[in-house]
Amino acid sequence: MLKINEIFETIQGEGVFTGVPSIFVRLQGCPVGCPWCDTQHTWEVEDENNIPVRDMMAKSTDTAMWSAMSVSDIFSTLEDCGYTAKHVVITGGEPCMYDLNELTTALNQDGYSTQIETSGTFPIQCSMATWVTVSPKINMPGGLEILASAMQRANEIKHPIAMQKHIDELEQLLAEKPAQPDTQIALQPISQKPRATELAIKTCIDRNWRLSLQTHKYLGIE
Ligand code: SF4
Repeated sequence: MLKINEIFETIQGEGVFTGVPSIFVRLQGCPVGCPWCDTQHTWEVEDENNIPVRDMMAKSTDTAMWSAMSVSDIFSTLEDCGYTAKHVVITGGEPCMYDLNELTTALNQDGYSTQIETSGTFPIQCSMATWVTVSPKINMPGGLEILASAMQRANEIKHPIAMQKHIDELEQLLAEKPAQPDTQIALQPISQKPRATELAIKTCIDRNWRLSLQTHKYLGIE
């Protein structure tokens, strides 16, 4: 069973799939501890927060409540909601705390494209067709290492930055644990801060990397 914090349909706001209508499946649980995390309500998995699916789907605010769902439950929910998006983003929390092979394979077989957004600190278990976005969380309070296997599997490395130190950390990581030659590398300014955005733009031009903006935050959508 997967512990699901929320399922909703919106536009993907970040990275290579920016602008693509997407169904987000947010999993509960994350031990990484990023200080700027905007989904801190997903960190803990408390048994008393296990609620029925209909109550989880009816949530109107961010809470730590979650539902235990099988792949079949998730398909039923997608059908009930009448979503039209054909791209599913599995995020968290840290989704790779879970084995996502069954879910991603079933979605692909049903015609959905799939994407996982992960910190790179857990083994990535998903279908071969899944687009893996690793957003490496380096030296975070949780003390977890970025796995070399996650860097190798990444289709896209999307790195949040606020200052030069974060770019240096990414370069060191890429030197020690290389990605594939065709992996897309993108810098994403943290919290739309102007100085971070300016630094990201300059560095992306210098290195021929991509700029990833959190367009959903500029638009004020989820
Ligand atoms: S890895 Fe993601 S969910 Fe976990 S603390 Fe960092 S930003 Fe938050």
